Amino acid sequence: MAGEPQDDCLFCKIVAGQIPATIVRETETTVAFRDINPQAPTHVLVIPKAHHKDAGALAAEAPQLAADVLRETRAVADDEKLDSYRTVFNTGGGAGQTVWHAHAHVLGGRGLEWPPG
Ligand code: 5GP
Ligand code: ZN
Repeated sequence: MAGEPQDDCLFCKIVAGQIPATIVRETETTVAFRDINPQAPTHVLVIPKAHHKDAGALAAEAPQLAADVLRETRAVADDEKLDSYRTVFNTGGGAGQTVWHAHAHVLGGRGLEWPPG
């Protein structure tokens, strides 16, 4: 069921503390941690603690939680002292999504080209 922890989900395991992560922020509903394979000097993932498969599903199933995630992306950027940064939600395998638990990438600390690849 949407929102319930999934046994086979990497990010549910990070939320549960079963897999270690470098957590930089945590709220009642979200966790932010450093990406294991950073693509920029700052590369932090912000996730809802509840399991939703991607950003669109999150917004449809739990709109307040989607807002919590977005608010935390800004909080991460502020903590990292970034005045420019990029927030990315890869959605679908063709766009590079590899973990099927909604997550925002917060990227910054270097020049970011537009359009992205
Ligand atoms: P996606 O490709 O789904 O948009 O993003 C998934 C992200 O999760 C990737 O950037 C990948 O490097 C990161 N990732 C995968 N496994 C782990 C892990 O075990 N720990 C952390 N911190 N990040 C991970
Ligand atoms: Zn999950």
